[in-house]
Amino acid sequence: MTIGYNAIEVEVDLEAIRHNYRILKEKGSNVYGVVKADAYGHGLVEVSRALEAEGADTFAVGTVGEALSLRNSGCSKRIIALLGPLSETDCFNAAKYDIIPFVGEFEQLEMLSKVVASQGRKVRICLKFDTGMSRLGFSLDELEQLVSWLKGNPDVIPVLASSHLATSDDPAYEEYMNGQAGKFTHILDTLSAAGFELEASLANSAGILVHDRVHFSAQRGGIALYGANPLNGTRWEGLGERLRPAMQVSTRIAAVRRLTKGQAVSYGCTYVAERDMTVAIVCAGYADGYSRQLSNTGEVCIKGKRAPILGRVCMQLCIVDVSHVEGVNFADRAYLLGGEGEGRISPDDLAGWWGTITYEVFCLLGLNPRVYRNK
Ligand SMILES: *Cc1c(COP(=O)(O)O)cnc(C)c1O
Repeated sequence: MTIGYNAIEVEVDLEAIRHNYRILKEKGSNVYGVVKADAYGHGLVEVSRALEAEGADTFAVGTVGEALSLRNSGCSKRIIALLGPLSETDCFNAAKYDIIPFVGEFEQLEMLSKVVASQGRKVRICLKFDTGMSRLGFSLDELEQLVSWLKGNPDVIPVLASSHLATSDDPAYEEYMNGQAGKFTHILDTLSAAGFELEASLANSAGILVHDRVHFSAQRGGIALYGANPLNGTRWEGLGERLRPAMQVSTRIAAVRRLTKGQAVSYGCTYVAERDMTVAIVCAGYADGYSRQLSNTGEVCIKGKRAPILGRVCMQLCIVDVSHVEGVNFADRAYLLGGEGEGRISPDDLAGWWGTITYEVFCLLGLNPRVYRNK
């Protein structure tokens, strides 16, 4: 899934991703690579190969369909589908291609057992528990019923157990996280007493970096692989400071123009030049996943300097102030993310102007055409 022809180029540095994986491995014992949503916009197959070269042997994607495309790319490692089976086709493919789906509903168990029986196969699954996200997963109340279902249906084989943390990146909610870890421990003990010894994962990136006590026997690393520090702005920030952003996004300048004092800029005339100025018309807009939220707020990096966006971001263009930047010309590069020198734009800078989190910035800008460095 990519946006078609435009001027944007997404550069992904695979060495940065390998470096970030090594950092997570220093902390965790068994770190799965979370590569859902096309590896947070960085490219499912390329990122998975880079992680595999660093020793990753388990990959977590979103849908069973995404798992299938990773399998079809030649990946022979363990693949987990975090969204679980949503149709009989998903159940069929999970069993046939040895994809391990998350399962947190009795409906999914029933559908799986019916489909694998007709295939004459077995299927391996990851039991998903809700310990505090109130999203997907079996609840503690359902544990007894779950154990008896599993005992009666040996063709559906639980091999993993997991739950997801809601607040591992926030020092103010450490007790909430501890509560989740306590519930998860109780779940694992109950399963173990019933004869199910499962590999267990609870931690996401922040959990891996900060909290050894939530590491259990495996961990799921996502955002940190892509070089955004989930701890920025907290007192734990230093624990992720060595992470290196892997994505850089640039486009071309379509025109450079003089503006005279009093001239209005872009739709709605929301910016009026306070002085004579030089502006660059930059080929990036909301159709490229570059949010209209950045109107009058965001900045781009041109020749190592920051150039603020003036007026509204349009569908495929925005206008930036380059009065203070020497020698800006038609067809020069403007960086939406990354860039050189003092003006370099970090994922957190961009997410801040945008009013969102780095995850969303990567997923949306990553829809544009990508090139890879350091394969
Ligand atoms: C996305 C996701 C992760 C990774 O979280 P990060 O904060 O990106 O490390 C882990 N587990 C599940 C279930 C997820 O959906």
